[in-house]
Amino acid sequence: MVKGIVEKALSGGTINTEEISLLFEVPLFSYDSSLIQAAARQMCEKTSNGFAEVHAQVGLDIARCPRNCLFCSFAACNGVFSENVDLPVEDVVNRACDFENDGANAIYLMTTARYPFEKFIEVAKEVRKSLRSDTMLVANIDDFSEKQAVQLKDTGFSGIYHALRLGEGKDTSIPPAKRLQTFRNAKEAGLLLGTCVEPIGPEHGINELVEKTIITREAKPVFSGGMRRIPIPNTEMEKYGIVSEARMAHILAAIRLATGYDIPGNCTHEPNIVGVAAGANLIWAETGSNPRDTEKDTEGKRGLTVQQCREIFREAEWHVLSGPSKFFNTKS
Ligand code: SF4
Repeated sequence: MVKGIVEKALSGGTINTEEISLLFEVPLFSYDSSLIQAAARQMCEKTSNGFAEVHAQVGLDIARCPRNCLFCSFAACNGVFSENVDLPVEDVVNRACDFENDGANAIYLMTTARYPFEKFIEVAKEVRKSLRSDTMLVANIDDFSEKQAVQLKDTGFSGIYHALRLGEGKDTSIPPAKRLQTFRNAKEAGLLLGTCVEPIGPEHGINELVEKTIITREAKPVFSGGMRRIPIPNTEMEKYGIVSEARMAHILAAIRLATGYDIPGNCTHEPNIVGVAAGANLIWAETGSNPRDTEKDTEGKRGLTVQQCREIFREAEWHVLSGPSKFFNTKS
């Protein structure tokens, strides 16, 4: 049964809800799990011509975020940070340029939902001016309107990272429809979408994983994939614990087979060898603020460098792309 589903996916067929569900159900460390992971790796190598990518994110602010996503260290209700702090513009520019010099294939600018949109545009303009013209810039921010999507495009962003998260509307205060509207606003403005199934915790059932996998497939992003939730100490969600990297490797492999050849990227976060070996071709380096960290600057803490990410890919026998991201390049 599993072999048939894997063969269907590998030969370019679209696997259905029931089939995706069966892939997720396969026990870890079984013959079928190995088959799923090997097939996912094969598909991933084809969709990215054998090259993996390292993207790099600069977190612009620390804040008590009013959206109160329970899994996030910035959620005001989690009480991790007591004040709002914005990185100075020069600091953002320098960190972005450092990532570019280190060979990141795309640079992301991330903010909390508290960060004013107009300020974000001003800072992004400075970053854009300082980067090479072919360096891909990606926005990872709050939901935005159609008009704001056009502003992002005009500022020089190639795309956005945005997700309809697990537990959206229940573990967050954001209606799922709003997240999907932002997907559409971005598309209308010509911004490419990167997304994934996240943040995955041990309590999430197969039905929700399947539902979110299909949402990412139908959004036609440049990458999907899977990210696990990092427990923030002394918060309500800490009690659920964490999904192992071994289980994440199986999950992201199933997602890879479900999303198919039309979606070139399959990410995992945080970066790890077993995940990229099993079919993730995109991971991130990070600096500045980080919603999975309780430190004000994640660099040297949870956040890895571009070099460390490249090393993880090399350990898993991947070639790493040099130059601008192919995922966010409409011409590739
Ligand atoms: S995930 Fe984003 S929107 Fe939600 S609390 Fe954290 S910073 Fe705010």
